[in-house]
Amino acid sequence: MQERSTEQLRELYRELILDHARQPRHFGRPEHYTHEAEGINPLCGDKLHLYFRVEEGRVCDAGFEGSGCAISMASASLLTETVTGHSEAEALEAAAGMQAMLRGESTGAGLGKLEALAGVRDFPSRVKCASLAWHALRAALTRHEGKVSTES
Ligand code: ZN
Repeated sequence: MQERSTEQLRELYRELILDHARQPRHFGRPEHYTHEAEGINPLCGDKLHLYFRVEEGRVCDAGFEGSGCAISMASASLLTETVTGHSEAEALEAAAGMQAMLRGESTGAGLGKLEALAGVRDFPSRVKCASLAWHALRAALTRHEGKVSTES
């Protein structure tokens, strides 16, 4: 029984990732933004540009442009959905939580929908695809703008 529910959960997560990859949320550059960062993952060819409008310490709007594999697009889509409406501190906390989960240091419990990406840990070459958007988020919020590469 335990095995079956794990399998069902995996299937649910797979569907969630595919849904976000096919129909990314918050896709496009917002008209007004205060922070931005670009992220590239040369190993896979993923290229993302993230935009955030931060007002009084709160992420009011988020958007992204770019192209890449399903994992990178789904991760960016989930990111923008997750951080919109939350404080900068909460957004950075989510980024730290994601990175700990992707490095295998935590199960990802408490990360909500983001837990769907935990499965990429089984595919080390895809971990960078999933973490790319989160590196860019951190660069955008801590340096206001920047460019990050998974290979630098
Ligand atoms: Zn990728």
